[in-house]
Amino acid sequence: MTLPCVIGMYWEPALEQSLDLSPPPARLGWGYFIDFDGTLVDFAPTPGGVTVSEDLRALLHAVHGAVQGALAIVSGRPLADLDCFIALPHLPMAGQHGLEWRDAFGCVSRIPRLSLSPHIVQAARQWSADRPGTLVEVKDFSVALHVRLVPALMSDALEIGRQLVASDPSRLMLQPGSFVVEIRCRGGHKGDIVDRLLRDRPFLGRRPIFIGDDLTDEHGFAAASRAGGFGILVGGERETSARHRLAGPAAVKAWLRPLAEGTA
Ligand SMILES: [Mg+2]
Repeated sequence: MTLPCVIGMYWEPALEQSLDLSPPPARLGWGYFIDFDGTLVDFAPTPGGVTVSEDLRALLHAVHGAVQGALAIVSGRPLADLDCFIALPHLPMAGQHGLEWRDAFGCVSRIPRLSLSPHIVQAARQWSADRPGTLVEVKDFSVALHVRLVPALMSDALEIGRQLVASDPSRLMLQPGSFVVEIRCRGGHKGDIVDRLLRDRPFLGRRPIFIGDDLTDEHGFAAASRAGGFGILVGGERETSARHRLAGPAAVKAWLRPLAEGTA
């Protein structure tokens, strides 16, 4: 088996097994870690174009209450960005792939001593300026090159990403995603968030379930599996550490809904 590689990191893929399209029914006693883009909401042409319906907001609020707070959103977006979209500030959340997080008690933490060099941001902006249709998203700890409108430029984005990471490989890593390439600081990932939140209430002692669609979610799948839980891959099948799969955001919401409706 060939190990899938995201530059600078490897994950342990599942053994030779096909994914079960039907995860077991969600249970009140489990702990839930859920990605945002492509998992709870459909992708939009631009990062700012996604919409969170009142139905989704009500669902997350109800599930969070039903599982006694053991529901966290774990995304590559900044925390502030997530709060603007989801508008449920009492939810535990992790942003920027785990480099910042808010726990169940509202305490916000960030991996210390991380910063992105201005020349990396400048080079990314220049790359995008020369390629109409691409977008640059500058975050605290990463810069993202979006090619959703011009997917043929994905390999070009990967190439400039590799070059920029090579300028400071001890501090930077490449994080490819769905029509996006991020140059980000090293220091943590989504799996670390699972490990961290499981150490305290309300996640302590619960079986962790990680739901996500992207390569960066593999760390979350692996962490959930190590802690006795499992991952649910959203979208098309691929080599993964997840044990189950759901077709898309609509299927994820349908799977969660019994928790909110008291029928789980
Ligand atoms: Mg995603």
